[in-house]
Amino acid sequence: MTAAPDRPRRPPADPQKYRVVARPSTIDGQGAFADEVIPARKKIGEIRGESISVREARRRARGLQRIMIVEVSERRAIDAAQSLDALRFTNHSCAPNAVLHIRQGRVEFYAIRDVAAGEELTVAYGESHHEGRLVCRCGAPRCVGRL
Ligand SMILES: [Zn+2]
Repeated sequence: MTAAPDRPRRPPADPQKYRVVARPSTIDGQGAFADEVIPARKKIGEIRGESISVREARRRARGLQRIMIVEVSERRAIDAAQSLDALRFTNHSCAPNAVLHIRQGRVEFYAIRDVAAGEELTVAYGESHHEGRLVCRCGAPRCVGRL
């Protein structure tokens, strides 16, 4: 069964506030890298994608190594697999420089501290669909070791 995607709601302005590019990462696969300086606490941008049910999200996540699905409420999730937003490649770090906020169904990223141009953007995933099956390679001194 394929659920029809919700009609995209047009955001009032471009949600991408700073330039972010996807490049190969030493953490995992592709990463999202700041392409300019991002000051602490500034909104970096958003991940947009297909709006699906959490049930469908869990079905899609099963068995995938790289998951680009974010649950935005108890019932809805965003699948960014087809998204063009470079932030969808944001890797996990146990010492992240960015944080993800879910606001009214939107997946927003904010800088925790000043981020240098060229630095990889990372967030702490928290509860993930990987359920501790993945080894963390973030390299932070206090890495917890698993996702
Ligand atoms: Zn780690």
